Amino acid sequence: MMQIFMPLNFLGFVYREIKGSLTNIENMFDLLKVETSVSRNADGKRLDVSHGAIAFENVTFGYAKERTILNNLSLNIKAGSKVAIVGPSGSGKSTLTKLLCRFYDVTNGEIKIDEQPISQLELDSLRKVIAVVPQDTVLFNASIFDNIHYGNLAATKEQVIAASEAANLKTFVESLKEGFDTHVGERGLKLSGGEKQRVAIARALLKDSPIMIFDEATSALDSHNEEAIMRTIKQVARHHTAIMIAHRLSTVTDADHIFYLEQGQLVEEGTHQQLLEKNGHYAALWRSQSQ
Ligand code: ATP
Repeated sequence: MMQIFMPLNFLGFVYREIKGSLTNIENMFDLLKVETSVSRNADGKRLDVSHGAIAFENVTFGYAKERTILNNLSLNIKAGSKVAIVGPSGSGKSTLTKLLCRFYDVTNGEIKIDEQPISQLELDSLRKVIAVVPQDTVLFNASIFDNIHYGNLAATKEQVIAASEAANLKTFVESLKEGFDTHVGERGLKLSGGEKQRVAIARALLKDSPIMIFDEATSALDSHNEEAIMRTIKQVARHHTAIMIAHRLSTVTDADHIFYLEQGQLVEEGTHQQLLEKNGHYAALWRSQSQ
């Protein structure tokens, strides 16, 4: 049982995760508030990702015993595919990704990556293969360069700049007096929501993990930036398994596969066209957003 409440523990944890190049961990899982009970499995097997296929098999989970969030959910994400998870607020979309990173253990069922149950794997090796752009980006109080570089400490300066370009950030950064040396302030307060989001995207692109999760990653962007970033994400997705959580369905119409969740259950799945033809929940949401 590991608890992460003590500041020193937390700093040690952040240090290890930074060394392990885990993307923006402190924000996504709000670790200062969360007691985590997963075992690091230090002696467990190291994850061997050759394809990046993901399977949720009859997964049931609740943050508290009395409330089930995911209910016997099964879904398969093909290796190298670009999929979207959509559905009403609170349906369990982000929870799926938290379980995939093993910030919580499932109550029942199993999650596998390339046929390997993640519960038996050494935790650091699991988290190294997943890059996350979380919903609300909080940055370290450091320079823009450092904030991107955390994604992969072995990356060169040129790679950091290339990642910033791919994230549509480079022109903005170069317009600042101190360029990449500009400090972002406490929790990134000196940047707008969209700028912070692009820093987080650049960081994830630099990490270049086989599995990438974009949790509402473009929600704070204007439509020009959103289109540009979506193009980048799609390019990246050619070589990776990419999971995009989206509220705006228009951003995921060309996903290889779309999963529609409601109240912790998978109620529909297919391509955008198939789901429209089905004329069910997804089609209704699409119509409501098209008005
Ligand atoms: P949104 O689209 O609004 O981001 P979501 O589909 O991603 O929603 P989740 O964030 O997975 O939904 O949350 C599913 C449910 O779990 C919600 O009812 C939420 O309140 C609850 N929940 C999420 N995180 C926690 C937590 N750390 N502790 C307790 N309950 C939580």
